[in-house]
Formats: sequence, C-alpha cells, structure tokens
Amino acid sequence: MRKPFVAGNWKMNTDSHSSVELAKRIATDSCEVAGHRVTVAVCPPFVYLQTVAKTLSASSIGVGAQDIYYESKGAFTGEVSAAMLKDIGCTYVLCGHSERRHVIGETDELINKKVAAAISGGLLPILCVGELLSERKTLQTEEVVKRQRKKGLAGWSEEKVSAVTIAYEPVWAIGTGLTATPQQAQEVQALIRKLLEQMYDGKLSQEIRILYGGSVKPDNAAELMAQEDVDGLLVGGASLNADDFLAIIRAAV
Ligand code: PEP
Repeated sequence: MRKPFVAGNWKMNTDSHSSVELAKRIATDSCEVAGHRVTVAVCPPFVYLQTVAKTLSASSIGVGAQDIYYESKGAFTGEVSAAMLKDIGCTYVLCGHSERRHVIGETDELINKKVAAAISGGLLPILCVGELLSERKTLQTEEVVKRQRKKGLAGWSEEKVSAVTIAYEPVWAIGTGLTATPQQAQEVQALIRKLLEQMYDGKLSQEIRILYGGSVKPDNAAELMAQEDVDGLLVGGASLNADDFLAIIRAAV
C-alpha cells in the first residue's frame, strides 16, 4: 500500500511574507484535512526555503527544493549543494522538472548527476519525466519516458533507488490548464511501474510512488488519484492557493 503524496511546486512565486503565510495556513489545516494519511511537501523558491522550513518545523509537512547542483562545494557561482539544502531543513528536491529541461536546457545526463547528488546527500529526489505535445502526437511518449527514467536513475542500486519518487508530468499539461485524462495518466504511470519492475525487484517497483503533475486542480484531483498507479500529485499553480491545495490534499486521502 503506497501512502499518497501531494507536493506543491511554488516555482518562482511568493515573497518573504506570502511564502510564510501560505506555509502557516497549510500547516494549520492540512492535519485536519488529511491527518497523517497523506505525505505533504512544499517546494518554495531557494531564498524562502529556510524561513518556510522553520515555519513548518513543528508540522509533518516536508520541504523540498526545486533544484540542486551535483557538486558538493566550490567555485560554482549561483549553485546550491545537497549539504546546504539538508542544512536548512530540506527533505526533498525536484530533479529534472520540465521547466528546467525545456526552458533552462538541462540534459538527462545532468539530471542523473543531480539525482545522484541528492541521494548521496541524504535528500529524497522527485524525478520528473514527461513528453512534449509534439512527442505525444508522434507517438513517442513511451520512448521519451523510458529514456528519461532510465538515464535519470542510471547507475543506482535498488537500495538507493528506493529513495526516489517519480513524477509523470506531460509537458503539454503543465501550466496550460490542459490535464491528462485519468486514463492517459494511468497508462503512462503503469508503463513507468513496468519499467521499474524490469530493472529492479517486484517489491521495490510496487513501493516507489509515482505522482501525476500537470494542471491538477481541486476538481480533477480525485479522479486522477482514483487510478491504480497514480500515487500522488505534483501541483504547480494550484499549490499557491491554500484552499485549492488543501482541497487537493483532501482528494488524495
Ligand atoms: C508543476 O510545476 O510541476 C506543475 C505541474 O504545474 P501546474 O500544476 O501549474 O501545471
């Protein structure tokens, strides 16, 4: 039985005041909404991580970074290491979010190094995979997701891979208002689980949580969560509104 997992990706939004207010509201109400039946995390911008982590320290809500660098320290201007993220109270880190792949230009090889750095630094990576609209239209979804998953986790033993959560986020559904149908999400997520089964043992592939992300809203969360291989939701825009995010958590119970 996989415990549902709802994570909010705040992207480059909020400020020092609103990030804390949003965190407080989620901390106060999420327990009432879901108790401990759902794993909940928020991923604020780097500069607000520490204050949000402090705000949430007495709650069960985890804090994640939106990115990481793979080196541990040194002359890497602008970058942030796993040790730094651990130091300020992060538990999770997004790796390979589609905006980093397609806006910033991150490659599968770089993402693999980031997943590796996260795992060896004691963080829990959320590896994002997903196809572009053009790739879906040309029937390349399976090939793209296979490649991203394989390269993203390359070189990692079963023991290490157990730290990973995978998020299937079709790029055409992120921030567009277009959501994959529950059947489309299930189809790809079942494929991801099958791929995990082929690489690792059956038990591990049954334990790894696979989230869906892409225009998740309170009114589509429950039907997505009803799918067998949708174990949780990675929420962008709707996670900036406490009522919407709490409604999505409720739908995941
Ligand atoms: C995301 O940022 O991972 C995401 C899924 O965004 P949105 O929910 O806004 O589509």
